[in-house]
Amino acid sequence: MGPYRGGGARTGFKILPLILFGLYGIYYYFSNQETVPVTGRSQLVDISRDQEAALGLQSYRQILQQENVVTTGQNAESVQEIGRRISAVTDSTGFKWEYNLIESPQVNAFCLPGGKVAVYSGILPVAKNANGLAVIMGHEIAHAIARHGAERMAHQKLVEIGTMAAGVAVSDMDPAQQRAVMGALGVGAQYGLLLPFSREHESEADYMGLIYVAKACFDPTEAPKLWERMGQASGGRGPAQFMSTHPSHETRIRQFEKWMPEALKLKAEKCGS
Ligand SMILES: [Zn+2]
Repeated sequence: MGPYRGGGARTGFKILPLILFGLYGIYYYFSNQETVPVTGRSQLVDISRDQEAALGLQSYRQILQQENVVTTGQNAESVQEIGRRISAVTDSTGFKWEYNLIESPQVNAFCLPGGKVAVYSGILPVAKNANGLAVIMGHEIAHAIARHGAERMAHQKLVEIGTMAAGVAVSDMDPAQQRAVMGALGVGAQYGLLLPFSREHESEADYMGLIYVAKACFDPTEAPKLWERMGQASGGRGPAQFMSTHPSHETRIRQFEKWMPEALKLKAEKCGS
């Protein structure tokens, strides 16, 4: 035994709160599991589909109010028609679909929870044709069907629980040590949980989107070409908004090659050759 409170032996680290928060975290994690359609992946989601759809609807109305919605013409009709064809092959009970074209130079598109789709006219030259637009809309619709937004919210909550636990556990340590531990945990949460999941979500939306495109009788081989064009569109003048949260298009194109046989087979079964 060393001298009482001798040397650097006293760290002031409290283990009990960490165990209690840890148990709560595990309970929270396992009592809020859902299954993603198409891929069958288990996910952490802690709000109901209705709550999620209400949030989606509210943001959608706000956005449409501020933007210039195009209601007539060939492009607006294409957005409607492609949207209807894609959504018809999804597993989306409770969704109230809407598809709108927004006049804007932004290279962007999204689908909010509950099936609220928007396509910005700035993305149309990159989409180039109906198949390209189907790939974009399929990807965005997949994000909503897979409830990626709600899953991201649940992950942030998990990180908050962890941060609170760590905050209590280190509360007797000296301030510099506390800052070091908390800083390291923040970085760990970002790179160990939040970023890997955001990449996982992108790949999952690519895969589900490709399956939807094929089932809706569009040409899935347009997917790698579309992302090639998207990569070029974002080159030079910084990443386009649509690309900023998305992984490198090389990775993406490799994955499409892997999934393509399945997509082509589905298309042949459903739509003939
Ligand atoms: Zn995405």
